[in-house]
Amino acid sequence: MLSKMLSNIKKPIIGSSLDMSKEKLIIGGPCAIESYEQLKETAVFIKSLGVNVLRGGAYKPRTSPFSFQGMRKEGLDILVSVKREVGIMAITEAIDERSLEEVYEVSDIIQIGSRNMQNFSLLSEAGKLNKPVLLKRGMSATIKEWVNAAEYIAKEGNTDIIMCERGIRTFNDYTRNTLDLSAVPIIKQETGLSIIVDPSHGTGKRNLIKPMSLAAMACGADGLIIEVHPDPSRALSDGEQSLNFKDFTDLVKALRG
Ligand code: PEP
Ligand code: MN
Repeated sequence: MLSKMLSNIKKPIIGSSLDMSKEKLIIGGPCAIESYEQLKETAVFIKSLGVNVLRGGAYKPRTSPFSFQGMRKEGLDILVSVKREVGIMAITEAIDERSLEEVYEVSDIIQIGSRNMQNFSLLSEAGKLNKPVLLKRGMSATIKEWVNAAEYIAKEGNTDIIMCERGIRTFNDYTRNTLDLSAVPIIKQETGLSIIVDPSHGTGKRNLIKPMSLAAMACGADGLIIEVHPDPSRALSDGEQSLNFKDFTDLVKALRG
């Protein structure tokens, strides 16, 4: 079914140009950029572990309009300074076409979040850019809908797409989402795209991040995106699913065997 669908597209997806064949793509950093100090401390720390990419949201698509919405442009300015001072790549989320222009200027990878997976105009605009796009799975999206979202990007010419499994809604309410690790071999077998896993949003619980990260690697994921905060108890968003520096160090060591 999926292969049939893919054989119908005009310009087939050929996979990401980020060379993930030699090394796994490990992305770490806070859910949201909260201050220069918070981001710099995290960037210096993850770089010391040899982690390649810093995450940090400036535009936050929050479920409630009363929750912290991110530092927006000010957050992107902090990201630029930290990237330059620390010498590290970064990924941050674009939530609409206006923020996409700003994110494109500063970020090495453009993140499109779960809530925007079917924002087709945003996908098409990202498809016109020459930077890798991380496409998170919609929280209620089937695999086929998710691959079709990737096709919207690829159709405009940008085939530099990294898929990200971040959990889906099921009847289970013990975890924030149900991490669908079967998506990993399916995406790899059916599309040839790279796929990474987000066990932070996939579970919502920091004590589940390490076991699910190891499971993701075991089923062939090309990498991970993990929320890391200098003091998760004080995080302005998603602290309960963020690792502190000690636990992130432990995870990275376990991943390297
Ligand atoms: C995020 O990574 O910051 C995020 C909002 O994730 P998701 O889009 O998967 O909910
Ligand atoms: Mn988050």
